[in-house]
Amino acid sequence: MAELRIVDVRKAYGRVHALTGVNLTVRSGMLIAVLGPSGSGKTTLLRCIAGFETLDVGEIHVGGHRVAAPDAATPPERRRIAVVPQEGALFPHLSVRDNVAYGLDRAARRAGRADAVLNLVGLAGLQDRMPHRLSGGQQQRVAVARALAPRPRVVLLDEPFNALDAGLRAELRQDVWQALRADGATAVLVTHDQAEALSMADEVAVMRDGRIVQSGPPELVYGSPVDPWVAGFVGEAVWLPATVDGSRARTPLGTVPVTPVAGDPAVGGPAVGPMRVLLRPEQITLAPPGVPGTVTATVVQRDFYGHDAMLSMRLGDGTPVAARIFDPATVPPAVGDEVGVRVRGTARTFPSHNCHDRSGQSGRPSAE
Ligand code: ADP
Ligand code: MG
Repeated sequence: MAELRIVDVRKAYGRVHALTGVNLTVRSGMLIAVLGPSGSGKTTLLRCIAGFETLDVGEIHVGGHRVAAPDAATPPERRRIAVVPQEGALFPHLSVRDNVAYGLDRAARRAGRADAVLNLVGLAGLQDRMPHRLSGGQQQRVAVARALAPRPRVVLLDEPFNALDAGLRAELRQDVWQALRADGATAVLVTHDQAEALSMADEVAVMRDGRIVQSGPPELVYGSPVDPWVAGFVGEAVWLPATVDGSRARTPLGTVPVTPVAGDPAVGGPAVGPMRVLLRPEQITLAPPGVPGTVTATVVQRDFYGHDAMLSMRLGDGTPVAARIFDPATVPPAVGDEVGVRVRGTARTFPSHNCHDRSGQSGRPSAE
């Protein structure tokens, strides 16, 4: 394992600017998720790191050594970087063990490295199977084991769980996370799935139009997004018009404390005047209509997700709000019902004119 450092990397395909200036550092042993919509440049970034593309501008360093620059590039096979592709691409004519042992030297084979990594990914006992007799999830496990086997300095995973169904994905995420951890791998996971990024990674780097627009721990990216677009992309957002006065905002849901964030241009200097505030649906709580301290809202939609439910509502003045309901014992209000809503916790402020986004309501990235 080694530190990975990407400095101002740019890459164009003809007139398509796939990477427009990427800066990113992944500390040794860390798992970072690069989260971005389709076409934002995620795969291109991985291909540059792996050495399958040359850079137009910038440098890539692995373990303190420069492996890529426009005029000098270490060939892929000498970078000791492993790639787990979207679909495993196993050798069909080799057993599971032989797939994993393929790139290993004799010493590593003798030391039983293949079986050890198969154990890490939860495939002990399936070493002699042929790939076509494995499920999709098992095949991806083999692909991860094969990537880890030669102890690469960096492991790159390009949407490795895409082809799998929801239940399997969750389980595989966990196991792959544990395998990467146990092996101390420095890893970059590319995904367009915000839940996957937030749940698996030590840090999340949000990518848009060929650049990283924010990176940091999942809690920070979710709780203090740098702009409305990031806010909407990493989770469901509730936007309220507000008049801000220092540490408090007057909103249609009453007065809400706001958190000034150091270095945030939106609150550089005392935040005063018309702005808008961001809340997350889990900050909106419900009460029977008319309870003092609540504002009355009408339910317009109810989406049940099993582990929680999302209630979309409108206030009397038409402002949309959404609440996440966790308690499975509560029967959620029905469409057309009136409920009392209030805010808990603090809000983030954003300039009200900053509308170059698609925020409005829910910013869940659509499934591809
Ligand atoms: P992502 O993985 O985030 O979906 P990609 O890195 O695959 O994004 O693509 C970024 C942009 O670069 C897209 O506009 C895509 O169409 C373009 N692109 C990617 N690879 C090529 C290529 N080989 N030739 C031309 N354009 C490409
Ligand atoms: Mg891609």
